[in-house]
Amino acid sequence: MKKIKKSTSYTLLFVILTAFIASSCIDDHLGRGNNIGAMKKVLKKFYNVESIEIVKDTIIITTLDLPDHTSPFYEESNPLFEEYTGDNPDFSTEITLPTGVTIDPDLMATEFVFKLPLRPKEVESDNQPTNLGPIGVALNGVVFFNQFNGRRELLDQREFNNTDQWNGHPSPRLSYHYHIEPIWLTQNMGSDALLGVLLDGFPVYGPVEDGVTLTSDDLDEFHGHFGKTADFRKGIYHYHFTEDAPWLNGDGYKGTPGILIE
Ligand SMILES: [Zn+2]
Ligand SMILES: [Zn+2]
Repeated sequence: MKKIKKSTSYTLLFVILTAFIASSCIDDHLGRGNNIGAMKKVLKKFYNVESIEIVKDTIIITTLDLPDHTSPFYEESNPLFEEYTGDNPDFSTEITLPTGVTIDPDLMATEFVFKLPLRPKEVESDNQPTNLGPIGVALNGVVFFNQFNGRRELLDQREFNNTDQWNGHPSPRLSYHYHIEPIWLTQNMGSDALLGVLLDGFPVYGPVEDGVTLTSDDLDEFHGHFGKTADFRKGIYHYHFTEDAPWLNGDGYKGTPGILIE
């Protein structure tokens, strides 16, 4: 009798221990995604946007995508027009389209509405590729593009010859965007600062982390990694800009992307 009782209590202990271990695993899992307070603080860092709202589990960021910094692509009458001040002797505001037609565009306001998950989730397989066009939005309301040009090839010197002193340029549809480090933001906020967010809700940081300048080799195939950041003390998956290609994003979204309305 005694023996049976003992084994019953051992069984009970085993059940309790198993339940305890299981619940702490769940807590760890939540820790990876439970960043809502931190995310709300991050949203306060956005400026030069039309509006930011949270509706249920969705963050809605509406921007007109006009940079708050100077650019030679602004119309000359615009107070933010400034001649090119960078060091590329081949810089030109004339853009040759894939069709061969050359245009000399002025920036135009384009409304983009990003609907992002408030609780971004990492996806373990079949991650969605990024599209051409906006894949995220910077703190100053300017949109991010991926590593490809309109021909779906990695950007090359043709595009860099149209990249202004703040590392942005307009698309053929005249919306201004960054494919590479937005140096207006890293100069003003720091090379290790949060710079924006991609459509899957995961944040984007500058090229420096803990005093070290990262390269693509330090990151996974989506161009990010999981870790603690100054904004997300519990840790979060995040992307980094790097000096080397593919600059911001690799093989697509690490998380489930939200919706972009143009
Ligand atoms: Zn571009
Ligand atoms: Zn990092």
